[in-house]
Amino acid sequence: MTGTFTLINPATAEPIREVSRASIAEIDEAIARAVSAQRGWAAQAPGARADALRAFARAVETHVEELAQLEVLNSGHPISSARWEASHVAQVLNFYAGSPERLSGQQIPVAGGMDVTFHEPYGVVGIIVPWNFPMTIASWGFAPALAAGNAVVLKPAELTSLTAVRLGALAREAGLPDGLFQVVTGSGSVVGERFVSHPDVRKVVFTGSTEVGVSVAAGCAQALKPVTLELGGKSANIVFADGDLEKAAASAPGAVFDNAGQDCCARSRILVQRSVFDRFLELFEPAVQAWRVGDPRLELTEMGPLISAAHRDSVSSFLDGAARVAFRGGAPDGPGFWFPPTVVLPDSPRDRIAQDEVFGPVVAVLPFDDEADAIRLANDTIYGLAGSLWTENLGRAVRVARGVKSGVLSVNSHSSVRYWTPFGGMKASGLGRELGPDAAEHFTETKNVFFATDAS
Ligand code: NAD
Repeated sequence: MTGTFTLINPATAEPIREVSRASIAEIDEAIARAVSAQRGWAAQAPGARADALRAFARAVETHVEELAQLEVLNSGHPISSARWEASHVAQVLNFYAGSPERLSGQQIPVAGGMDVTFHEPYGVVGIIVPWNFPMTIASWGFAPALAAGNAVVLKPAELTSLTAVRLGALAREAGLPDGLFQVVTGSGSVVGERFVSHPDVRKVVFTGSTEVGVSVAAGCAQALKPVTLELGGKSANIVFADGDLEKAAASAPGAVFDNAGQDCCARSRILVQRSVFDRFLELFEPAVQAWRVGDPRLELTEMGPLISAAHRDSVSSFLDGAARVAFRGGAPDGPGFWFPPTVVLPDSPRDRIAQDEVFGPVVAVLPFDDEADAIRLANDTIYGLAGSLWTENLGRAVRVARGVKSGVLSVNSHSSVRYWTPFGGMKASGLGRELGPDAAEHFTETKNVFFATDAS
């Protein structure tokens, strides 16, 4: 161990507890234990691995309230969201508990014998997660990776380690073999980089900023290691004049201010057809003001604080200078890293506020002229993660959904994440996909075996 770091409750700015920083030697020991545990795990019958994952899911289910309270304390998530997140982890585990018996290979016709393929696990998978959704994002990696026969070493973000540490303990309490799923706390430049450089970590899953993701990908390239990247976003919520304006305006705050905008899928640009631009703003303003920001322990709270003082400074910096604020919602005064929901009208789609990821409760509203203009503007950032569009015209919905270069889109809704559908970004938002029916297979390598059957 090389010291500790202090976790802070973002709603009160008070310290919660100290968490250890793993040293290189400790990380290497964890990886060595994972190598050994993985051999036994992969050798188990598929049904036995499925049962073990279901037991892990049940342990999470029976600790939903405890996990949710930890997330409220450590991350400032509203309790209703935190309960959803903890339950989601159990659902993801249950879903991928169905994978071990379904990882079928192929039988391919060949002359003189038989050819079959096997989905072999990589071995040890390193998973690096950010602070915004500490439990859910971790589970998108560890559940399918374990299901496919791998061991997992998981590095939570420094700011939000508590739920990950508890999930690691629950896995052991549920009977998963020692060393199979380990949570290693510490800094990105030590633990995260060691996952990238250590030869026994055979695949890396990284979720975080595009900047760090690029360096993780470069390190993985050096080691010829596959990597999945889930990175930043600047997603567009496109409102056409022929859409249901009332519904679009009423749902727009949730689409960008959920988790205080600290959501890679936040619809942080609202593109509105010019003919209904003013009407949309009239409808949007009361919806923003009704968005309930406050004590995350209360059932009715919809938005808590930002994660840290430093992050609040970063979000505030987007409002310095040119950005024209149209209106704002409310936020508590006093201790804690509070920031009110804020609606900005940029002068140009090239303004920083319309291009860069804020990762806070700030939304830029911009006009567009026609369908082609909407698609052009939606695609006019480096990102391509999520997006929504509102229209009652089916043909337009299909054309725009196909035209927007994003990995996850919804029409007349803002849904992004269902564990049984694929999730991930295009362009600078990432590489590869998580969740959905094929995620366990993404944690395997295909092996082809030819069996000669000629008698001679
Ligand atoms: P970050 O990139 O600073 O950190 C992410 C994780 O990487 C942390 O655990 C950190 O300790 C670790 N890390 C830092 N430096 C590292 C290094 N050199 N090598 C290896 N690991 C290192 O991101 P953050 O601030 O924690 O999270 C916010 C970002 O995450 C936003 O950009 C957001 O859009 C993105 N995000 C993306 C998705 C998605 O699915 N696309 C989901 C959530 C968050």
